[in-house]
Amino acid sequence: MALIVQKYGGTSVGSPDRIKNVARKVAKFRAQGHQVVVVVSAMSGETNRLIALTKEVASNPTPRELDVVVSTGEQVTIGLLCMALEDIGVPAKSYTGGQVRILTDSLHTKARILDIDEAPVRKDLDEGKVVVVAGFQGVDEHGNITTLGRGGSDTTGVALAAALKADECQIYTDVDGVYTTDPRIVPEARKLDTITFEEMLEMASLGSKVLQIRSVEFAGKYKVKLRVLSSFEDREGEGTLITVEEDKNMEQPIISGIAFSRDEAKLTVVGAPDKPGIAYQILGPIADANIDVDMIIQNVGHDGTTDFSFTVARGDLDKAVKVLEGVKAHIGAREIETDKSMCKVSIVGVGMRSHPGVASQMFRTLAEEGINIQMISTSEIKISVAIEDKYLELAVRALHKAFGLDAAV
Ligand code: ADP
Ligand code: ASP
Ligand code: MG
Repeated sequence: MALIVQKYGGTSVGSPDRIKNVARKVAKFRAQGHQVVVVVSAMSGETNRLIALTKEVASNPTPRELDVVVSTGEQVTIGLLCMALEDIGVPAKSYTGGQVRILTDSLHTKARILDIDEAPVRKDLDEGKVVVVAGFQGVDEHGNITTLGRGGSDTTGVALAAALKADECQIYTDVDGVYTTDPRIVPEARKLDTITFEEMLEMASLGSKVLQIRSVEFAGKYKVKLRVLSSFEDREGEGTLITVEEDKNMEQPIISGIAFSRDEAKLTVVGAPDKPGIAYQILGPIADANIDVDMIIQNVGHDGTTDFSFTVARGDLDKAVKVLEGVKAHIGAREIETDKSMCKVSIVGVGMRSHPGVASQMFRTLAEEGINIQMISTSEIKISVAIEDKYLELAVRALHKAFGLDAAV
C-alpha cells in the first residue's frame, strides 16, 4: 500500500465528464489498496474568467479581494469531484486550502506555503476516505485567503506530498510527460522518461509551464518523488520522472530541452553617463519597485555616455518605465526606449558542463535562420537569448533540430 498525492490540472477537470473520468482513475488506485489525496485546479478557463471579472468592476483590485475571487474556481472542483467519487461508491471529503490549513505568508496572489497541518488529512485517509484538496490556495496567519500564483496547484500537490511524506506525487495534465520542448510548438518534440531536478528547475523558470517552478523547488528540497503524466486514459504510461541524480551510466545528451517565454520586454536607458555606480542607480530603484530583472547589457561607452539595457516581464513594463523616468532625470540620461516585442529562448542541459561549443552551435543555428540575438545570458546548464518574438517558433524548431532532439520518424 502506498500513499499517493495526485494533482489534476484544469483541462483534466474541464467538464463534468472529465471530472467523472478523474473519479474513475482515483477509484482505480484506491481499489489497488493505495491511499489517495487528490489536488485539483479550477476547471480550464475558469481562473482567467474570474480574473477578467475582477477587471470589469475595478481597474486595480486590491490583492486581498482578488484572492477571494480567484480562489473560488478550485472550491467548485473539489466539491464536484467528491460528489463524482461518492457517486461511484468511493467515500471522499473535500477541503479548501484554509480548511486543511495550508498556511502561507501574506503576499497575496503569489503567497508561499509556510506550513501544512496534515493531521486531519491523515485521519480521513485512515478512515478509508479519499481526500480532495483545493489547489492554488491557502490562508495566512490572520485567516485571509491567499493564492500561490498561476499554476500554483502543482505546488499545493507537491507541498502536500512533502507534508504527508507521500510515496509519490503524480501531476496529471493534458500531455503525457515532460517533453524536449512544448509539443504544441514543436510536434517532433520527444517525451523524456526522466529529467533531473536541476534541468526541470531551469525549464520551469525559463518558461515551460508544465510545472510551476515552486513545485519543483519544493520537490527538490523535500525529496518528493515527482512524476508528470497524462490524465487521459488513452495516453496512460509512466510519464516523466523528475530525478535527483543524473544517470551516470547513460550517455548524457548535451541538451535535454528547450524552454521559451513570450512574456519579455526590453528597456534601454539611452545616453546614461558612463561612470561607476550607474548600474546600481538604474537597477536599484527597479528592485525597490519589486520588479524582477532578467537579462542585462551595458554597452561600451562613447563620449562618456553609454546605453544600458535590461529585460523584465512584459506585465511589469509600464511600472518599470515609470521608475526609469524618475531615474533618467536624476542621472541625466537622454531617453528611455522600450521594446515589447521580445521573447526569450533557452537551451537547457546538464550535459553542457562537459561539452564546450554549445553556445557557438546555438548562435550559428540562429544566424543561419537570420535571427538577430539581442541579449545573451548563460549559466552552467543553460544558455538564453532574447530575440524578436516573431522568430520564436522558428528559433525553437531550428534549435530543436540542430541539437538532435527531434524524434526519429
Ligand atoms: P495543467 O492545467 O494540467 O496544469 P498546464 O497548461 O499548466 O496544465 O501545463 C501543461 C502544458 O504545458 C502542456 O499542454 C504544454 O503545452 C505545456 N508545456 C510547455 N513546455 C512543455 C514541455 N517541455 N513538456 C510538456 N509540456 C509543456
Ligand atoms: N487555477 C490556477 C491557474 O489557472 C492554478 C492552477 O491551475 O494550477 O493558474
Ligand atoms: Mg499548470
